[in-house]
Amino acid sequence: MIIGVLNQKGGVGKTTLSINLAAIFSRNGARVLLIDADPQGSALDWAAARNEEPLFSVIGLPRATIHKEINQIAKGYDYVIIDSPPRVTDLARSAIMASDLILIPVQPSPYDIWAADEIIKLINEALIYKQNLKSAFVINRKILNTAIGRDVREALEVYSVPSFEASITQRVIFAESAAQGKAVCEIDEKSLATKEIKAVVKEIMEFLK
Ligand code: ADP
Ligand code: MG
Repeated sequence: MIIGVLNQKGGVGKTTLSINLAAIFSRNGARVLLIDADPQGSALDWAAARNEEPLFSVIGLPRATIHKEINQIAKGYDYVIIDSPPRVTDLARSAIMASDLILIPVQPSPYDIWAADEIIKLINEALIYKQNLKSAFVINRKILNTAIGRDVREALEVYSVPSFEASITQRVIFAESAAQGKAVCEIDEKSLATKEIKAVVKEIMEFLK
């Protein structure tokens, strides 16, 4: 299973979601590879900040040839997660073509909702060649008890892509864990943040059925 985490907008939580999903899949016993396709190398930096044994492999591959290499690279892994860069269109196209499922993190802000237009266009282009490609929005950095948090799902209905029921709240633990090269489940298995990531994993499984 190849999961591309994409959005042409930066700072929406692609790397945060990629790392934390990879950690839960690994903890569930799967063999997981995280491909850092962002030339900025944030996931590689995360891996370098880590003192413990790696939970999963992380490699850097910031090239628009991922779709050509993916079969070779994915050998021996149950899940490959592609953490994609913002803006670089040829890389996004390549990551989309390499993936079975696209997850699009979006923040509950009108700017994010408008900006999602770009990635949806790229996905729609790819659907011409890849009819089986699945995609979904994952709302990230929701602020509890705010109207914008509730309205975002409705606002995203203008797009052809569904939104997951499971969403992720703005929580300090996401930044704090990253600083130590850890996933939230390693800091606190019982935390609300961990529960949210697990709920996203559960929804991925149901979505792919
Ligand atoms: P992207 O990869 O899309 O550029 P990142 O995952 O790097 O986005 O997230 C951007 C910043 O926001 C990082 O500093 C990250 O720690 C923080 N962040 C992301 N998601 C959350 C969240 N749910 N709660 C708190 N901080 C978050
Ligand atoms: Mg990133």
